[in-house]
Amino acid sequence: MRSSRRRLLVPVALLSAALLTPALAAAEDGRGPGSVVPETSAGGAGTIEVEVPPEEGAPGGYRDVDPTPATQDPDALRGDARAGRVDGKVRPLAKTGTSRDRLDVVITGDGYTAAQQDDFRADARARWKQLTSIEPYKSYRGLMNVWMVQAVSRDSGIDRDRDTNPGNVNDKRTALGAYFWCDGLERLICVNVNAVRRYAKKAPQAELAVVVANSDRYGGAGYFQGVRGLTGVATLSSDHASSSEIGSHEIAHALGKLADEYWTCGSCALGSTREVGPPNVTVHGSVTYLRDHRRKWYRWLGAADPSGGTVGVHQGGMYVARGIWRPTESSIMRYLGEPFNLPGREAMINGFYRYAQPVSSNVKGGKAIGRKKRIKLRLASVGALGRLQVRWYVDGREVRKARGRTSASPAALGVPGRGRHTVRVKVVDRTTAVRSPKIRKNASRSISWRVR
Ligand SMILES: [Zn+2]
Repeated sequence: MRSSRRRLLVPVALLSAALLTPALAAAEDGRGPGSVVPETSAGGAGTIEVEVPPEEGAPGGYRDVDPTPATQDPDALRGDARAGRVDGKVRPLAKTGTSRDRLDVVITGDGYTAAQQDDFRADARARWKQLTSIEPYKSYRGLMNVWMVQAVSRDSGIDRDRDTNPGNVNDKRTALGAYFWCDGLERLICVNVNAVRRYAKKAPQAELAVVVANSDRYGGAGYFQGVRGLTGVATLSSDHASSSEIGSHEIAHALGKLADEYWTCGSCALGSTREVGPPNVTVHGSVTYLRDHRRKWYRWLGAADPSGGTVGVHQGGMYVARGIWRPTESSIMRYLGEPFNLPGREAMINGFYRYAQPVSSNVKGGKAIGRKKRIKLRLASVGALGRLQVRWYVDGREVRKARGRTSASPAALGVPGRGRHTVRVKVVDRTTAVRSPKIRKNASRSISWRVR
């Protein structure tokens, strides 16, 4: 089976023969581009799709690669007391709440020896800080727990670093098998996904993994879908400042279900007029159509966008130059270093709240409680974009004087001493970065209790 992604690329001259492809159908069931479709060739050797990060003068793209390149021999560390002590050790980088109510991100390092684990943790902190320095990551860091999982490598640095000959392996033996020149591309850092998963699983409820590869050369990759147990894996180099942007972009595929807004084929068009799945691309190249039929980002049309200009329809995206439209001229889904556009930002917030809750409570919802029981809420900490609103209800009626309170008892809310009553609290993120009622609902939580 050939790469499904490449079937999206239909030369314009062949358009008359173009039909809906399986890849497009896949996009419509929510997988979307940016997803990785594991394949098994006739020979039985599976490959996995990775996104090549764009760089100046060269767009990104996709390659089928080996999902399990060689890692170090596990026995190589045996007898090294220091390695045995620190390998697999989990440390929090940011713990903001219970994992049940948080998006849990794992950062692991490759090409760091036992003696370099301080270095790994410093690199992990620096890259994560930079990766989340743009909105909406910045405002919503409080919805994430970030764990550092130490992976001890026998050698320092990763394979094929500083090597301009892609055929020449440097024989670095590392825990996660990371290497430059993956599939002949210098900046493409591939990794052993099984090894990544093994380390990631040591952290509580890991949902996303970021691999920091010990190097100062620009590079990285995105693995999405098919990495069992993880929504996505992004790789990036540890000491190149721009590498963090690869992570910001790749995580957007996994969390926001966003499509790429660039194209790799200037003479290609989408081979179908059926609507596509991702929230930031459409086959309808008309503002009027989107508005009249309430499709895609119609709520944002005409709004001033953080990337400059206003939200409209711009042709080109999802790897082809024609037959597909994106919301803005530029965005992080087209060029690294650019901001998210408004529809992309909203989709990301939706993604954060798929894994995280705006509020947690000291008393479990659904329980029967006494009138004097003190309920304490813990609101997620949200930055400039977020706006959490707290409202309390007794038997379905709002107790207006209790608005905004994060602590209350049924008695204080006015629950009478007789009869059966219910207390409910609802926390909604009223951020102006969300306009869809469905996403607003996802960005909220209600908890209720029976009062005995
Ligand atoms: Zn991408």
